Amino acid sequence: MSLYTSGVWKASREPFYTIPPVDRAGPYLGARELVVYIDGEWLPKSRASVSVYDHGLLYGDGVFEGIRVYNGVIFRFKEHLDRLYSSAKSIKLQIPLSPEEMTKVVVETLKRNGLKDAYIRLVVTRGVGDLGVDPRKCRKASVFVITEYVDLTYGTIMKQKGISAIISSVRRDAVDATTHEIKSLNYLNSVLAKLEAVDAGADDALMLNRNGCVAEATTTNLFIVKDEEVFTPPSSAGILPGVTRKRTIKLVRELGYNMYTKELTPYDVTNADEAFLTGTLAEIVPLVKVRGIEIGDGRPGPITRKIMEAFVKIRSDPRDGLPIYQEAARIISRK
Ligand code: PMP
Repeated sequence: MSLYTSGVWKASREPFYTIPPVDRAGPYLGARELVVYIDGEWLPKSRASVSVYDHGLLYGDGVFEGIRVYNGVIFRFKEHLDRLYSSAKSIKLQIPLSPEEMTKVVVETLKRNGLKDAYIRLVVTRGVGDLGVDPRKCRKASVFVITEYVDLTYGTIMKQKGISAIISSVRRDAVDATTHEIKSLNYLNSVLAKLEAVDAGADDALMLNRNGCVAEATTTNLFIVKDEEVFTPPSSAGILPGVTRKRTIKLVRELGYNMYTKELTPYDVTNADEAFLTGTLAEIVPLVKVRGIEIGDGRPGPITRKIMEAFVKIRSDPRDGLPIYQEAARIISRK
């Protein structure tokens, strides 16, 4: 259902965002437990584990990616891999697999689990060491790849209604500290802000950087719309440069809006006409209330909705990802 016809948004009582069909059909579905890749082998998920001496666990020393698969197409896989290897480089972590080998492992894991619509968690830890923090004691990094179904129910309600956020008292880690430009296993900064949001009865938290400008939400990037132009904070604001953010920036321009990367103050956000958050799991979610203040009229705005609808159209396009099943690739290209 499209609400946007002939340049006019029509009011509708029907939800504008419905749960997309999920193709869970796969050769092994129901037949056996999902498998997880871990350091060269595929194990049933109940048996896949790492050592208690792994520095990923002991010190949050490692990097990861969260990736989506839509109808057999791994969304923006190259960007995710690039970010994984850049994160690893920043912490001097040698990933034992080349990007080509990593690609094969991810595709094989999805195929073994028969998944066409899924969430992938790709993790590289520093590996087993002693109880000291020195990473040199860890002889070899560990790699594991989890592929799971995605429960879309909760997210769909959020997309229809929009979500609320507090502005957290917890500041985003500085770019000269444990910066969120690196997608590391150290998420305590986000966890503390999320706890504060939960306590306040809000859905999420926006986090400010040391300059008092808004960086991002706990696990998503922020966009605002003002006078039909779209703005998002730059990487230097202390954000994780999201893969969804990058594609959304392009999408906004493809839709014909001016798109700017700019520092945003809390005032900019609460006085925006519309706001939304982007992320791999969240996709695009309207942000309708911040600090108890309604953004616009407190409902998902027309430009946000237009961007959300456009995103649904591109997310399984093979041009926006890596098609893993020949059959799926053929079907999509016939559209
Ligand atoms: N910021 C943070 C802190 C995140 O954890 C995430 C989720 N990866 C994002 C932003 C959104 O990034 P992406 O679109 O790549 O999922």
